[in-house]
Amino acid sequence: MRVIVLGGDGFCGWPTSLHLSANGHRVTIVDNLVRRRTDAELGASSLTPIRSIEERLQAWRETRNSPIDFAEIDVAHDYDALEELFREVRPDAIVHFAEQRAAPYSMKSPRHKRYTVDNNVNATNAVLCAMVEAAPDAHLVHLGTMGVYGYGKTKGMQIPEGYIDATLRSGGVSADVEILYPADPGSIYHMTKTLDQLLFFYYAKNDGLRITDLHQGIVWGTATPETLLDERLVNRFDYDGDYGTVLNRFLMQAAIGHPLTVHGSGGQTRAFIHIRDTVQCIEKAASTPPKRGERVRIINQMTETHRVRDLASMISGMTGVPVEHQHNPRKEAAENDLVVANDTLIKLGLQPTRLSDGLMTEVVEVARRYASRCDPAKIVSQSRWVRAEAAE
Ligand code: NAD
Repeated sequence: MRVIVLGGDGFCGWPTSLHLSANGHRVTIVDNLVRRRTDAELGASSLTPIRSIEERLQAWRETRNSPIDFAEIDVAHDYDALEELFREVRPDAIVHFAEQRAAPYSMKSPRHKRYTVDNNVNATNAVLCAMVEAAPDAHLVHLGTMGVYGYGKTKGMQIPEGYIDATLRSGGVSADVEILYPADPGSIYHMTKTLDQLLFFYYAKNDGLRITDLHQGIVWGTATPETLLDERLVNRFDYDGDYGTVLNRFLMQAAIGHPLTVHGSGGQTRAFIHIRDTVQCIEKAASTPPKRGERVRIINQMTETHRVRDLASMISGMTGVPVEHQHNPRKEAAENDLVVANDTLIKLGLQPTRLSDGLMTEVVEVARRYASRCDPAKIVSQSRWVRAEAAE
């Protein structure tokens, strides 16, 4: 396949681009490198020393895999360049990671809220619009989030893959219909992902675009077989309070002996997937497109669920680092159960990587190796979901 990876310089996009290229696909990365500038804004950086995009691509050429092309384009705002690229590359698949993806970052201030909505919604709309004009037969694979479903309202019911049967009643008439699972976003970032869903629904219905929306769990781990080929191919590892996702943050804290910071009671149950499984799932999804005219295909891209305090005590048991409960900056249910259907991925042939597979130790080792690069002052989240006076 000819594949365009939008956001291909990021945490999920870089290893996905390498994996696709290693498997013989012709890859073009599009990225405006905003994530690197956000590091500068936050005074934080990846724990692993990521190289410039030029050095990354040069290192990949030296592995003798097929070279990866790169175009620096702002997907949300450089529309003409995006459409032109689609026309030039004639992609079979477009993988869309190019969004602001941190919930705490999206809640930092009015500027961050507006930036996240502006960037994410415009990026998705521009991609769909340009596909209609220049790549109507391509298959769009978008990285969405399990967070669109919300947490805690289903009381043990299994979360289906995107759609649910419902009975609508109004004016004395009732109708049985299939609807998108009701959205219940928990942050501005998650809200943009629920808006993306409506854009997909519309463009699939109106223009017959072929779209797969992967509702992904929280990604953990950092290395894939391809990123391990050369030190210059190393993937990013975020540990700061905004971008560090919970499990990687715990592993990092364990590596430097910082208490494992659990927000609130730690009763939140969340879905997880290892980065090695992410890259495989994306290739499997990209190469099995829905038919033209079919509804948007939604796949729950997660392999296991865990309660946050259980994860903390597991890692504490492995490493002897204590757990510390802190005020929860988020507005969310203190405790929730989570049962998720992930049948499609398993049918596509994924062999899930489990937390129990020893990879946690590997990640702690990565974190230990680069521990001297860590700034402990950046670990704890400074973002707040509700303004201080309203929270009292
Ligand atoms: P990331 O921030 O590391 O990567 C995103 C990349 O997109 C960055 O390289 C950034 O520079 C680029 N980008 C952002 N806006 C852009 C724009 N307007 N034009 C061009 N490039 C742009 O994030 P990630 O962790 O790799 O996440 C990728 C996608 O996967 C996101 O959409 C995210 O919502 C989704 N996702 C991630 C996780 C996770 O745990 N990391 C979980 C669920 C879903």
